[in-house]
Amino acid sequence: LREKIRDLELSLSQKYPPVKFLSEKDRKRILITGGAGFVGSHLTDKLMMDGHEVTVVDNFFTGRKRNVEHWIGHENFELINHDVVEPLYIEVDQIYHLASPASPPNYMYNPIKTLKTNTIGTLNMLGLAKRVGARLLLASTSEVYGDPEVHPQNEEYWGHVNPIGPRACYDEGKRVAETMCYAYMKQEGVEVRVARIFNTFGSRMHMNDGRVVSNFILQALQGEPLTVRMVRASVSVGTDVMEVHEMCSQGNPEEHTILEFARLIKSLVVSRSQIQFLPEAQDDPQRRRPDIRKAKMMLGWEPVVPLEEGLNKTIQYFSRELEHQANNQYI
Ligand code: NAD
Ligand code: UDP
Repeated sequence: LREKIRDLELSLSQKYPPVKFLSEKDRKRILITGGAGFVGSHLTDKLMMDGHEVTVVDNFFTGRKRNVEHWIGHENFELINHDVVEPLYIEVDQIYHLASPASPPNYMYNPIKTLKTNTIGTLNMLGLAKRVGARLLLASTSEVYGDPEVHPQNEEYWGHVNPIGPRACYDEGKRVAETMCYAYMKQEGVEVRVARIFNTFGSRMHMNDGRVVSNFILQALQGEPLTVRMVRASVSVGTDVMEVHEMCSQGNPEEHTILEFARLIKSLVVSRSQIQFLPEAQDDPQRRRPDIRKAKMMLGWEPVVPLEEGLNKTIQYFSRELEHQANNQYI
């Protein structure tokens, strides 16, 4: 009880978000690689508020200190500036391995580095998991399906990736990362989980992420044309954070065309932007939609944030970011 009161006092007396009390035996030491990024920082919030000890490891390539600054100084929180391509020796119970650029402009910026992060970086984290007996969750991606020939995509589908195309550094990097997870599981008994996340959006995502939702919102807010690429493309959207369990595809199975998306965002922003059509980009997946039956059955997981609500939250976040930028440009 004394400990519980102390924790309560701590969260009341300090500026931190409220943190649940966890007994020593339930409290886990959790490593989140890429924890200063978009998904990782939300995961950090969740695990910190659940009362765990969280260590974020990030090289700040696309992540920002600002995303986790509200935890800095908290006794359960640690932020380490480290590149996962280098070995890491710490003691933890669980590892959420998210370190990797996620959007095409970011992962294509330095394809060799993207490959190193996803291969050597994952090998290092699996080596760490093996040494300390930690369970590891890999944040994989719908991109392992490449430009899919089956629709919707479920976990049985092996994918259709161009191994030497412009997206290969990421797609193949994640495929090898998955292979490594299962090799460490079979050969070394490491407990692994793989979440194949479909395109996700929300607050703290990078404004220059370069994917469809952030592009359209930014264009709509700035009164610039919304650039729709000329494919029969559609996307499905997910707004949830992953759970720890089996290998699963996670995203929202509701399907929309890109043009519908452009129109919806334009109307939510109440923007006068035009819609402009551009030629197709090389190896862009034509169509994507997760089959989430396995995630539903095994994890009881399904997306909970409705599309418009998720978009509105992201729009608000981007508006605040643009304001913040405008106010700070002369500092
Ligand atoms: P993000 O770019 O916001 O976050 C990635 C984080 O990893 C950043 O903080 C970045 O600085 C860090 N990082 C990159 N390389 C690193 C390295 N070598 N060492 C240490 N840190 C490094 O992206 P996100 O959207 O939060 O994605 C997180 C994970 O989820 C990624 O592994 C991504 O592949 C996966 N994922 C994301 C989506 C999505 O739609 N956002 C979809 C599928 C999969
Ligand atoms: N590794 C690490 N932290 C650890 C243990 C290992 O970063 O706590 C790295 C290690 O440097 C190696 C990789 O993980 O590059 C794979 O380790 P493993 O023990 O599986 O293979 P080995 O070192 O025997 O090749």
